[in-house]
Amino acid sequence: MTIQRGNLIIVAGPSGAGKGTIENAVMEAYPDIEFSVSVTTRPRREYEVEGKHYFFISKDEFLQKIRNDELVEWQEVYSKNGHLYGTLRSYIDDALNEGKRLLLDIDIKGGIKVKQAYPDESISIFIEPPSREALEQRLLARGTDSKEQIQIRLERASEELDLGQLFDYKIVNSDLEDAVQNFKKLLNENIYHQ
Ligand code: 5GP
Repeated sequence: MTIQRGNLIIVAGPSGAGKGTIENAVMEAYPDIEFSVSVTTRPRREYEVEGKHYFFISKDEFLQKIRNDELVEWQEVYSKNGHLYGTLRSYIDDALNEGKRLLLDIDIKGGIKVKQAYPDESISIFIEPPSREALEQRLLARGTDSKEQIQIRLERASEELDLGQLFDYKIVNSDLEDAVQNFKKLLNENIYHQ
């Protein structure tokens, strides 16, 4: 008997677009979807479990994995103090061979790379804030950053929104329930073929 190959559901978007909330609601509705576990050099938070949330490794171990070509992609995530995050090739390949459906919560550039590496097995979804202005307002409203920092954040946010064009689908998160419904519709059409 041959097992049908699995799928990758790649989810990315600018921080503040609410992707985590949408992902949680979707994963509750589809218990067969598993969260894809990445490697990171970021310290473990108290509630996090090794191998469930991440594989927590040292910077040296991470650099070794890059040299051994064990990562499909990796990024230094600036909004997280420059910590390194990466997708393990063996983890993804094993899951696909076992017919699993994996949801990847990943930064935008990483998401584009995974899509390029697995074009036929993946669907990439970009979660967008309601408007560019709304995102800018949110960044400005924090009030703690210097003018230069705000300018850098705005430019980065704008670049990130432009990269949304490279995803298969976009979901605008102006209403959580609508966003979750749209997400489910994409899964039903593209993965469950309902
Ligand atoms: P956190 O540290 O809050 O868990 O996640 C920080 C950011 O890293 C999130 O935007 C998440 O999507 C991203 N991220 C998590 N795993 C990976 C990965 O394997 N590769 C890349 N490029 N980004 C990741």
